[in-house]
Amino acid sequence: MRRAVLAATLVLAAGPLAAQGHAAPAANHTGPSAGHPSPAAGHGAHWTYEGPSGPGAWARLDPAWSVCAAGHEQSPIDLGGAVAAHRARIEEHFSPTPFVLFHNGHTVQAALERPSDLVAEGGHFNAVQFHFHHPSEHTVGGKAYPAELHLVHKNAKGELAVLGIFITVGPEDNAAFERLAARLPRAEGDSIRVGEPIDLAALLGDHPGEAEPIYTYHGSLTTPPCSEGVKWTVRARPIVVSLAQLQKLVAVLGESARPVQPVYARH
Ligand SMILES: [Zn+2]
Repeated sequence: MRRAVLAATLVLAAGPLAAQGHAAPAANHTGPSAGHPSPAAGHGAHWTYEGPSGPGAWARLDPAWSVCAAGHEQSPIDLGGAVAAHRARIEEHFSPTPFVLFHNGHTVQAALERPSDLVAEGGHFNAVQFHFHHPSEHTVGGKAYPAELHLVHKNAKGELAVLGIFITVGPEDNAAFERLAARLPRAEGDSIRVGEPIDLAALLGDHPGEAEPIYTYHGSLTTPPCSEGVKWTVRARPIVVSLAQLQKLVAVLGESARPVQPVYARH
């Protein structure tokens, strides 16, 4: 099989962020529940984003999930305070890849058929999937964005690095995002293969060679089992989609965000 060469380098430059150059986050989501679909069966205990099996109960639902409550490096967190942005250059040169969109009952996940290499400070990682949350899981100064994309990378040792990208609303359709929005699986268990390769660089709003504000910290998975040891990079600058595109995503996702967790000694 032809190996997809993806020379994605995440160059972490030093130096504090002089100005918060990013757009203001959207207001916190305060509306009623959008009715998250029931989770997929078959893997671990039943968990949800609300009600008796919601985030506050995850640690009690399965003994293997105790770190959800006991851990001191849980995600998401509020950014911009204890964890400040710094400027760095993110250079990602993804090979376009076909992908399979799958509705797993908690989110819509895009499995990349051609994993990409990411060279981050911890070594080589493969980007294996991305998925969405509504509203955003990370907040900035206490405010959430309408949505957040997580690009999940894994290395040979099974360690995880996640790139988080906020999604906000602007006046125009985002052409790269539309490739997904037009094909989102609507019901739990549905999957749709998208054969025409997706240009991840366009979807993720890359600005090659340009230093941009990012947040980095050590955290966890934001869903059970809440495993720690995840290297997080969250871009301060959101990608912009139209309101109609956001609504397509939200209609499928429902509410799918774990509340922010204590920072403890991370700063
Ligand atoms: Zn996620």
